[in-house]
Amino acid sequence: MRKPVIAIDGYSSTGKSSISKVIANELDLIHMDTGALYRGVTYFALKNCLEQTGEINLEKLFAQLPLIKIEFKTVDHELQIFLNDEDISQQIRDKEVSSNVSLIACQKEVRDYLMETQRSIAKEGGVILDGRDIGTVVLPDADFKFFLTASIEERTRRRYLELKSMGVNMLEEEVRENLTTRDKIDSEREVAPLKKAEDAIIIDNTTLTKMETILLIKSYIHPI
Ligand code: C5P
Repeated sequence: MRKPVIAIDGYSSTGKSSISKVIANELDLIHMDTGALYRGVTYFALKNCLEQTGEINLEKLFAQLPLIKIEFKTVDHELQIFLNDEDISQQIRDKEVSSNVSLIACQKEVRDYLMETQRSIAKEGGVILDGRDIGTVVLPDADFKFFLTASIEERTRRRYLELKSMGVNMLEEEVRENLTTRDKIDSEREVAPLKKAEDAIIIDNTTLTKMETILLIKSYIHPI
């Protein structure tokens, strides 16, 4: 029996990554949080490609893309993200990264660069990838596709609490603003915009707990 390829897309802070992580553990699949890849490139750009004005020099970033090596490693049963051997799991959640990541994710050069990393992990099957364009562009032939959504109020609340628990201090209003802006840029960009794949199942989890969402998604997954 072949192991499935599962695509989970949706709006920011709908729980895509934490839900995918649990499902991956339960079904013995590999999980890739593709948002972390875009955040990793953004972190690199903020460190290495900043102009005096504080803006990211995109041409400089594009030229340096081949120098970026992003890897996921399991440390103490947790998946951590490494940029050129530096653990950046915490840093990629910083406000600076969150405010700039959608600009970086709009760039075709960056998306093309990260495509191979995402597709190669899915080649053998047995994976769950979460992001914005997995079901539409990265893995259009995925066996199961889901599109997560929830009200902005609920998503703000969840994100605020998550950041707080990670020690990142942001006002609730700032969190809401960041989510709304990112969703807008992600949905309106020309390259691989955030949108539901025609054959994806919509899951609105505004009133569902994480566990209920997981059970609902799992109820659609069957042996292939
Ligand atoms: O999933 P997360 O919120 O960490 O993603 C951060 C950002 O990365 C998104 O707002 C989006 O701009 C970008 N992204 C993307 N395509 C993906 C995953 C994330 O453009 N597949």
